[in-house]
Amino acid sequence: MKAKKGLSTLCLVSSLFIVTSSPVLADKTLLDDDTPKNIIMVVADGMGPAYTTAYRYFMDDPKTNKIESTVFDRHLKGLSSTYPARVSGYVTDSAASATALATGVKSYNGAIGVDVNKKPIQTVLEWAKLQGKKTGVVVTSQINHATPASYLAHNESRQNYDAIADSYIDEGIKADIYLGGGWTYFIREDRNLVDEFKQSGFHYIDTYEQLVNLPEGKPVLGLFGKKGLPWALDDKDKYRLSRMTKAAAHQLVDDKTHQKGFFLLVEASQVDWAGHGNDINSAMHEMDDLAKTMEYLEHFVEHNPDTLVILTADHSTGGFTIAANGVYQWKPDVLRTMNHSSDYIAKELSKLDISPTSTQMLFNFKLTQEELSLLKTAKDKATSKDEGNKRALDNAVKKVLDIRTNTGWTSGGHTAVDVPVYAFGEQSELFIGQQDNTDIAKKIFTLLGKK
Ligand code: MG
Ligand code: ZN
Repeated sequence: MKAKKGLSTLCLVSSLFIVTSSPVLADKTLLDDDTPKNIIMVVADGMGPAYTTAYRYFMDDPKTNKIESTVFDRHLKGLSSTYPARVSGYVTDSAASATALATGVKSYNGAIGVDVNKKPIQTVLEWAKLQGKKTGVVVTSQINHATPASYLAHNESRQNYDAIADSYIDEGIKADIYLGGGWTYFIREDRNLVDEFKQSGFHYIDTYEQLVNLPEGKPVLGLFGKKGLPWALDDKDKYRLSRMTKAAAHQLVDDKTHQKGFFLLVEASQVDWAGHGNDINSAMHEMDDLAKTMEYLEHFVEHNPDTLVILTADHSTGGFTIAANGVYQWKPDVLRTMNHSSDYIAKELSKLDISPTSTQMLFNFKLTQEELSLLKTAKDKATSKDEGNKRALDNAVKKVLDIRTNTGWTSGGHTAVDVPVYAFGEQSELFIGQQDNTDIAKKIFTLLGKK
């Protein structure tokens, strides 16, 4: 395969239109010798194009003339449309989009691995498992949240958290490693799924430190939070996605008794949550954890060249814009040195006196008089009896950062803009150009030998 790499790459590029525009899967003969042994699918929930662009400016070294490129810039391949099934219009939620990415079939908003008639559809993870590959999921949400659930489960609604968690045992265990959050769904009064995983031979861990000592060849369940993990900025390790991904990739590849490769789903779940909260601070720091994860995966592919890595988003969130209010400026400077999430800052300020000293300590930069009074007014509102003002201080912290950076938001929900697609490693050329989220699943099925 190595000798004719140049030629096969050319053939693949010219065959792209067949792959993307036809319901028929890519021509099998083109792919026979060259299918990747390992596939790592990375979903950055909510990461529309503004997020990856903003991250470049966030990471820019202002002391150099050049604007440094990022790990994302190195691997851009194309765009993906994200619209759900007709019945849900043009704007998708994470469940419908993850179902499309996992199965190649569009469904309604809220659907977990089922079609518009609520019939279960096979996912790429399930198919990979049937082909004898190891499988895994690594997320910063709870492991039964919409995105991972759409690869692992079939349920008419993403809201059925307990039922989805139950199905991880009851419908047969589909993955060899699960890392993320979710104690509250897995250790319940009516059922202890962690014990059931243990009885099925799983090694259970609940601290990041335990990730370095995983028993070789053993399946692993790691739950590190009640629901989702803390924000990157507030977590014990702000590069927790990267740390978990490294551990999972090692665990799946290091097993000497298993030579059939693996399929791993990695999700930067909380880019979306930052977008919903219109929180530029957490948005950039969740992106930073994702970037570290992608840099680690570059390294992994160097050492395991028979691996394909794909990164895309399920949709964009928040209508995030890099500059607002007619002003031609975006100033991420203050974000670069922040050590705490906006939520944490608001919580602390609700207990402390709002002063130049207390705010400088929390924000790690000096606030102006105007910013201080904005926070004070909000705190007065928040402490008043009116329930509707409960989030006033939290919103004011984010407002200070929006004004400082000149960031814009148009929504607390999702938007329907196309999302970027990145890929590197074996067969990454398959993802060049405009595609639909269902095409991504179809291409993965083809690479996994499904006809
Ligand atoms: Mg998600
Ligand atoms: Zn969302």
